[in-house]
Amino acid sequence: MYVEAKRGKSRELWKFHGGLHLPEHKDISLTRPAQQTSLPKRLVLPLHQHIGVPAQPLIEVGQHVLKGQKIADASTPVTAPLHAPTSGTVVEIGDHPIPHPSGLPGQCIVIEPDGRDEWSELPLPITDYLSADTKTLRERIRESGIVGMGGATFPSAVKLNPGKPIKTLIINGAECEPYITCDDRLMQDDPQRVMAGVRILQHMLQSEECLIAIEDNKSEAILALHNLVQDDEPIEVIRIPTLYPSGGEKQLIRILTGREVPSSGLPAQVDVICHNVATAAAIADAVLEGKPLISRLVTITGEGIREPGNFQAMIGTPASELIAQAGGYQNNPQQLIMGGPMMGFDLATDAIPITKGSNCLLCPTSEELPRPEAAQACIRCGRCADVCPANLLPQQMYWYSRAKDLEKVQDYNLFDCIECGCCSHVCPSHIPLVQYYRFAKHESWAQEQERRESEHAKQRHDARVARLERLEAARKARLRKKKEALDKKPPAKKAAKPEATDKESKQAAIEAAMKRAAEKKAKQQAQPKNTENLTPDQQAKIEAVEQRRKATQESTPEHETEQQS
Ligand code: SF4
Ligand code: SF4
Repeated sequence: MYVEAKRGKSRELWKFHGGLHLPEHKDISLTRPAQQTSLPKRLVLPLHQHIGVPAQPLIEVGQHVLKGQKIADASTPVTAPLHAPTSGTVVEIGDHPIPHPSGLPGQCIVIEPDGRDEWSELPLPITDYLSADTKTLRERIRESGIVGMGGATFPSAVKLNPGKPIKTLIINGAECEPYITCDDRLMQDDPQRVMAGVRILQHMLQSEECLIAIEDNKSEAILALHNLVQDDEPIEVIRIPTLYPSGGEKQLIRILTGREVPSSGLPAQVDVICHNVATAAAIADAVLEGKPLISRLVTITGEGIREPGNFQAMIGTPASELIAQAGGYQNNPQQLIMGGPMMGFDLATDAIPITKGSNCLLCPTSEELPRPEAAQACIRCGRCADVCPANLLPQQMYWYSRAKDLEKVQDYNLFDCIECGCCSHVCPSHIPLVQYYRFAKHESWAQEQERRESEHAKQRHDARVARLERLEAARKARLRKKKEALDKKPPAKKAAKPEATDKESKQAAIEAAMKRAAEKKAKQQAQPKNTENLTPDQQAKIEAVEQRRKATQESTPEHETEQQS
């Protein structure tokens, strides 16, 4: 198949297996340009908005933050930092409902805006990016928290480090899922931003060719970008047939290049890297203005919404506030879907925040998008396999997922399933096939995680045992050395004194002590007594006392004397 491309050249396009022509429902939200939204009352920012390790808070409750300030990050390679979308106070760090198919809550930073919308100091713009080295640009993209905004949310800086030259850069503007129009709106309203990002990506990867792929139902977007491409640029805007899911990465590579990404492989293996148009625009903001990723375009649509459209929403804005800005609900809608009708998932509440990967909030009525009928037994019709764009065997995957035979379901290339929903859509038995695959993937990841953790624990245990053994061996070696050293050393001779000398010394000490005692006694005897040298008067008094004592003794009866004594 050949199509008209830039500069009148024809370009060969390929077909992928399966796919579906679906009612588009795109007009509902395309009637007016994208609108700015007012400042929300609270912003709820999940720490895990990307594929990889969740970011960790860098701030505390009660702290005042400025717009664009980094508020969470992690040091692992596959992660993305988080920035405050406006200035305000951090009022909470805790679990809140988040947009996830599991419906489980996740850790979030909650900011109460102060209304001033005051920017923090931003890094300097890299306007001359052609002179900047790739590492500097990658670091800027990483620090700006940019992830794939087409829904994959893989950190863009990691994707931009393929470790080898890449021949083809593909910019994905296909936006193939019904209802969603935010990429179309971005290309129509802000084509310069998109093209600026495309050129930065082209420079970073030094690719031979850059192909911007847009489905042929978006003529205005095609024209808007086409008009900005210079003749001497290796960039082409390619109009591709509208067929769901042509925007799937592997499907788009197949359409544009005819190359097949191997099972469980990456596009870089076939010399291709893909980025979404919104990601390209965010990269332009980061490099040329130093602005981090703090807002995105979101389609609010469906018959259940009063004034559908596209809205520039701060990351963390509650869905309920965004829906209120789109005029609120109408027609008694039956459900609220995050994403489109094919790949989106039901939300239990509208009290969930917009994240970096949220491209659409769909609110259909029951007539518009009837609930699937009750599932019946598989009749082995094979329709699911006919439409599968990944060329899988959905029926077999269903059986093994249902039986929880995870090994077997992986043998059928479960992880090549892009969860496009084509198989479920055509299944005459109304089996919710994608839900089985999601469950099987989740269980397989959990098992793998458990296996890694126990392997890690075993490695830690083995390392500890080895360390203790080393320490014990070292201790024994030290003792042995010490003993050997002692054995070699001649015994120290004691300064033995002859026994006779000891005795002599004791005897001498005794004699010296006796001598000292004798000298002391002689000295005492030599001292004058207090009855010597008396005056005649003193002598007379003493004699008088003596006579009185004698007289008393003679007059006292004997028994009294005895008692007194
Ligand atoms: S389409 Fe449904 S009924 Fe038909 S083979 Fe697949 S799972 Fe079975
Ligand atoms: S959901 Fe998976 S199995 Fe079903 S059609 Fe899409 S890729 Fe194939």
